[in-house]
Amino acid sequence: MTTQSTNIRRLVIVLGDQLNKDSRAFDGFDPKLDLIWMSEAVEESSHVPSSKPRIVMFLSAMRHFADEINSKGWRLDYTYLNAPGHSGTLMGELEKAIIKYSPEELVVALPGDYRTLQNIKTSASKCLTPLTITPDNHFFTEPKDFEAYANARKQLRMEYWYRELRQKFNVLMDSGKPVGNQWNFDADNRKSFGKSGPKDVPDHFNVPPDKITLDVIKLVNKHFKNHVGELDSFAWPVCRKDALRAMDKFIQERLPLFGDYEDAMWTDEPWLFHSHISPALNLKLLNPKEVVSAAEKAYLSGAAPLAAVEGFIRQILGWREYVRGMYWLKMPSYLEMNSLNASHNLPAFYWTGKTDMVCLNQVINQTLKHGYAHHIQRLMVLGLYTLMYGVNPVEVHEWFLSVFVDAVEWVELPNTLGMSQYGDGGLMASKPYIASGKYIQRMSNYCTSCPYDPAESTGPKACPMTTLYWDFLIRHKGLLKQNNRMSMQLKNLDRLSEDKIVSIQAAAQAHRSGLVSLNNFPR
Ligand SMILES: Cc1cc2nc3c(=O)[nH]c(=O)nc-3n(C[C@H](O)[C@H](O)[C@H](O)COP(=O)(O)OP(=O)(O)OC[C@H]3O[C@@H](n4cnc5c(N)ncnc54)[C@H](O)[C@@H]3O)c2cc1C
Ligand code: SF4
Repeated sequence: MTTQSTNIRRLVIVLGDQLNKDSRAFDGFDPKLDLIWMSEAVEESSHVPSSKPRIVMFLSAMRHFADEINSKGWRLDYTYLNAPGHSGTLMGELEKAIIKYSPEELVVALPGDYRTLQNIKTSASKCLTPLTITPDNHFFTEPKDFEAYANARKQLRMEYWYRELRQKFNVLMDSGKPVGNQWNFDADNRKSFGKSGPKDVPDHFNVPPDKITLDVIKLVNKHFKNHVGELDSFAWPVCRKDALRAMDKFIQERLPLFGDYEDAMWTDEPWLFHSHISPALNLKLLNPKEVVSAAEKAYLSGAAPLAAVEGFIRQILGWREYVRGMYWLKMPSYLEMNSLNASHNLPAFYWTGKTDMVCLNQVINQTLKHGYAHHIQRLMVLGLYTLMYGVNPVEVHEWFLSVFVDAVEWVELPNTLGMSQYGDGGLMASKPYIASGKYIQRMSNYCTSCPYDPAESTGPKACPMTTLYWDFLIRHKGLLKQNNRMSMQLKNLDRLSEDKIVSIQAAAQAHRSGLVSLNNFPR
């Protein structure tokens, strides 16, 4: 899809995660003078090797958006991944477009990752073309708001940022006070399913692939055949209309129990009571303001309880805005943080799901199949294991960025390197998120069919999560002693005999040596 090379006033760059027609980049857009530019590029799926579901998600959503732009009559130059003479890179194609159209100005909304922002700046200056970067009005806040918040504080905890935003945007507020006289209902939101398991889980919102998605699936199977992930059950919403339907279905059917079972996990139940709207939000098919407003309305109309609604809104208004602020505050040095000096390679089974540890087997296979795992699966199974194992946080980050359909660096990196791997030394998390296998036993039924016993740290039935938990405490005792919030866990460590400590360390060492690690991505 190209357009005639006439004089262009503005060339508006739309990236794969900027699919909102109300973007500030379109302010003052004149279809007679201006042109929208979009391009697919192999490099965007291979700088870290994206899983097949993630590539399909982005390419199909971009193509649906291009159709919307065309139907609006706006001029669009769109380059397909397999276009003849494609340079393979986004910037290669952008520079060609700049030469072709000689625009007076380039315009782009703030990209979702630092690398792309730098690349666009470099290409613009190489081509001597002025570049305007507009704020991204998709979010409630701008990076400068978080910077001001951070400058006024020693500690950057999410909770106080969230409370400020609740007040500023008047969300769940009543005469200046939080509705229900409580900011946070976390304590009500940590139930497990008990022995009987989840009941009446609503059907997952599925969108059968249309012609555009089917074409993309074919393309991905051809060009990225060695990338991980499955496409047989790809059914994510890839356009705004379907994203809105997914949001409505969540609000009506899942939100009332979202809070209760936010942290719970169950065998072969990937979806449970979560919303599954993160890819639609991150590609900007949905606006977080409309999602928060729909959830608040559900509370006001009595359709969902306050604890569930507050818990859900906190994820979007609180965590989502907070991690974005943290990303732009700390990049690019954030990527280099490794406070625990973790240096092991990622075990190869993260790319295949082939492990007898049932918790990891379940969550990795679900991720490879759907490109999705819910928050506690990511934090307290996938991230927990790599943290306690001691995997280099950059390798963990690259894996998380590769496999999830909702992965965009501004949100993935702080969650992975900061919250989950403690690589930032506690900027985000007040203590490392560590736990033994007993936590997983309490919050799921994974352990019931596992060959290991979560109560055992050594011996033939030792649960690797439990072994690595104690090993982590032993290895980092000196550092953790400085953190009051770790005192209970360290007291328990002090109760272990010298002999037990030696055998735990040997068991952890044996576990690590029994696994294959990769120095590089499988391609
Ligand atoms: C190691 C790790 C990596 C992660 N990587 C990503 C990622 O690449 N992309 C991503 O969108 N989220 C990421 N998260 C956050 C969270 O796990 C996902 O947003 C959530 O699981 C998406 O599923 P859902 O839409 O069903 O969410 P729900 O549980 O229904 O929550 C509703 C929405 O809240 C937002 N949200 C919830 N938790 C967070 C959080 N911690 N940070 C930011 N937003 C949040 C999401 O937009 C989500 O759609 C990560 C978390 C961890 C621990
Ligand atoms: S026993 Fe350990 S490895 Fe097995 S499922 Fe439970 S926590 Fe995971």
